[in-house]
Amino acid sequence: MCGIVGAVAQRNVYPILIEGLKRLEYRGYDSAGIAIIDTKDCLAIRKTLGKVAALEKLSAGMDLRGNSGIAHTRWATHGEPSTANAHPHQSNGIAIVHNGIIENHENLRDELIREGYNFLSETDSEVIAHLIHSSLKISHSLCDAVISATTKLKGAFALAVVSQEHPGILV
Ligand code: GLU
Repeated sequence: MCGIVGAVAQRNVYPILIEGLKRLEYRGYDSAGIAIIDTKDCLAIRKTLGKVAALEKLSAGMDLRGNSGIAHTRWATHGEPSTANAHPHQSNGIAIVHNGIIENHENLRDELIREGYNFLSETDSEVIAHLIHSSLKISHSLCDAVISATTKLKGAFALAVVSQEHPGILV
């Protein structure tokens, strides 16, 4: 069972997210990752196969700082345990973490490929990032785009979403 953490704060959220992941480790997982909207409002993602300690090691010295972010421990259901399949997944500055299964991911993937999106993982989850980006073109806010995207998803899921175009917002 995976875990999801999100944080928006006036202080740097990196330590909050890492601490949150550590508290979820007992649930079991195969990989871990983090996305932060950094101090220049750019999306920074680090992820790795293995433990939260490995993620911390990967991030050490990279000055990963910002006031909003999301993090994930993954228990693979679609796609092998790997760094490429680890969450967060992204689309054009939007990052998502997902717990659960998207049952209609194959149909959605085909539609999104026809729209011009490229896929970098084997997960069912990656469709969510691209769907939100696609929905943002006709939505008034990140929240509206997430709601619109989720109406197309079949299955059971929990999500957290951040976007570099919407710093300080966590959906
Ligand atoms: N189905 C997603 C995946 O395989 C999420 C798994 C989870 O809940 O950790 O990446």
